[in-house]
Amino acid sequence: MMHMSSELNETHDDAVQPLPLVHVGDPVLRQVCNDWDGNDTPELRELIDRMVATMHDAPGVGVAAPQVGVNLRLAVLEDMYDVPESFAQAREREKLELMVILNPSYEPIGNRTATHYEGCLSMPGYTAAVERPADIRATWLGLDGQQHTRELSGWQARIFQHETDHLAGIIYIDKAHIRSICTDENYAHMWAAPTADEAREALHF
Ligand code: ZN
Repeated sequence: MMHMSSELNETHDDAVQPLPLVHVGDPVLRQVCNDWDGNDTPELRELIDRMVATMHDAPGVGVAAPQVGVNLRLAVLEDMYDVPESFAQAREREKLELMVILNPSYEPIGNRTATHYEGCLSMPGYTAAVERPADIRATWLGLDGQQHTRELSGWQARIFQHETDHLAGIIYIDKAHIRSICTDENYAHMWAAPTADEAREALHF
């Protein structure tokens, strides 16, 4: 091999070591991250590969650089999990192929919002309901330095917002209905439904 291509790295994904996840309380999660300077380096590619391995290992649908202790406006997103049709419909959850986003930002399109339970790999054991814009215009740079813009809706928009918020030092719990917070165990036993409606009524959020 002359050099490692990204295709090769993907093929050998299992061999890439995940990175330890940083949990709430660590100040790196509360910093506004530095912009990417536009340099595509082997170190950056290795970091991305290891973040993808971390996301798969967790498992999760996104990892932002500060979650592995790196102050950089970078996140990886991917959602190829199979979910029950009722959940997929209520949450507008569709498959999302791997996205590597550098210096990302988003803005809502229109006024439609959605409230659903979400969690964070940096705050294990808990889940809470967050009202977010349902439709966004997402903008980011690719590794080639090109700017990309894409309209995202539903769960895909939620993932993009959650990870991009991390890069501004914002954790989902900052935006959550605080009375909605559940342990994962209670959520699984009591409120694991396609919508948050029953939990909202019972927990008064
Ligand atoms: Zn998170």
